[in-house]
Amino acid sequence: MNDASQRLETVRAGIARAAALAGRPSGSVTLIAVSKTHPLEAIEPVIAAGQRDFGENRVQEAQAKWPPLSERHTGLRLHLIGTLQSNKAADAVALFDVIHSVDRPSLISALATAMERSGRRPDCFLQVNIGDEPQKGGCAVADLPALLREARTAGLPIAGLMCIPPAEVEPAPYFALLAKLARRHDVAGLSMGMSGDYETAVMIGATHVRVGTALFGERS
Ligand SMILES: *Cc1c(COP(=O)(O)O)cnc(C)c1O
Repeated sequence: MNDASQRLETVRAGIARAAALAGRPSGSVTLIAVSKTHPLEAIEPVIAAGQRDFGENRVQEAQAKWPPLSERHTGLRLHLIGTLQSNKAADAVALFDVIHSVDRPSLISALATAMERSGRRPDCFLQVNIGDEPQKGGCAVADLPALLREARTAGLPIAGLMCIPPAEVEPAPYFALLAKLARRHDVAGLSMGMSGDYETAVMIGATHVRVGTALFGERS
């Protein structure tokens, strides 16, 4: 096995172990390989090892990297996990299959317009600023009910909630809070968990984990 397939096996096994502990089928968790900053040469071996869901955090970078990969490989699914400017909404709708960073009314209307014009309907996750951090993206916990109402009224396909917990503290309580919000508001998906904590996230109900470093190594 090469490096990429070994790392992929390790992460998949970690997900399966955590899912089993929680009494969930491991197929209930989608592993998103976060390939931001990594070149095509680093991504190809991960695709060759069977991975199909990938995450990028910038529209422009993804526009440069993914069309050539999609020509060479079938079944790739591309996830936008980074902040999205409203003026890039049409580009994002054209390229991505899932958008994890919907966090404000202006973006909801830009996405709704772009979907109507293009006929493409990427799944959307509403990002919640779960630790209430001033510098972070995501809507305030208190604003989630209103934002969900707007997204539903605008007709966005709501797949779930997404969060990035505060760094350097135990993430489990934040994951549990996001899970509680999802139950309360009747949304199915939970996009949470990264390289350092994806097993914890799966035990608390993550349906999508976003893993970069554990698959690709450190970003420069
Ligand atoms: C970069 C990034 C990840 C992946 O982080 P790792 O610690 O490298 O696994 C996950 N989610 C978001 C939103 C990111 O920006």
